[in-house]
Amino acid sequence: VKYYGNKTSLTKALNDISLTVEQGEFTAIMGASGSGKTTLLNCISTIDRPTGGKVWIDGVCTSELKKGELADFRRNRLGFIFQEFNLISNLNVKENIALALKMQGKKVAEKDILDVLKAVDMEEFIYRRVNELSGGQKQRIAIARAVIKNPRIIVADEPAGALDSETSNQIFSLLKDLSETHLVIVVSHQLEYAQKYANEIIHLKNGYVEELEVLKPILDLSLIHISEPTRPE
Ligand code: ADP
Ligand code: MG
Repeated sequence: VKYYGNKTSLTKALNDISLTVEQGEFTAIMGASGSGKTTLLNCISTIDRPTGGKVWIDGVCTSELKKGELADFRRNRLGFIFQEFNLISNLNVKENIALALKMQGKKVAEKDILDVLKAVDMEEFIYRRVNELSGGQKQRIAIARAVIKNPRIIVADEPAGALDSETSNQIFSLLKDLSETHLVIVVSHQLEYAQKYANEIIHLKNGYVEELEVLKPILDLSLIHISEPTRPE
């Protein structure tokens, strides 16, 4: 459960959500604007804390971690991809990716950076300044930056929201590839890409799960639990 505001002005952004996602899945969270997609992703990815209920990742109850522990957890276990890329535009590609490693206290090896850039087909841009890249190229760098942390989970909020359809396809296809080695959770309002690439779609409506659509089961379905949607008053 996630509420915003106070007694006089209360927004029930998430209501009675209960779900499990497994390693190896490509999960899409869909719904109209304001349905709670970003709130759900933020609660899953430790950016936000639920008002009620718990979030467990790899056996750790992240909704109960203290601030410092939470920052460590986030830095090491989660990779983030945003609609607006969130790169530092006056640094070059290598510097942007190196920053993610430095924040983890890891050594920066050029070979590792080249490897992740190869995976997103951007290795020839390693010394290019970010503000000289197209939107699609920036997003591929943001994906490389998320991947180099070697996180267990990659979360993306509208990763193709600012891109044309061909570039959107490329980004979803890259995320699909990543889902073989990481749990990938993507918020999108673009049904065409979600249906083409995701294994399952969580459809949100007014903060509750309206439907769990399983497209391509990759695991024992008994592992996926979801409660019956409860309608808010
Ligand atoms: P979506 O990502 O699906 O568009 P959000 O999760 O951003 O939806 O928002 C869900 C609901 O919570 C909306 O009614 C929105 O106005 C509200 N909301 C989101 N963030 C805040 C906030 N920081 N403070 C108050 N209300 C918020
Ligand atoms: Mg949103």
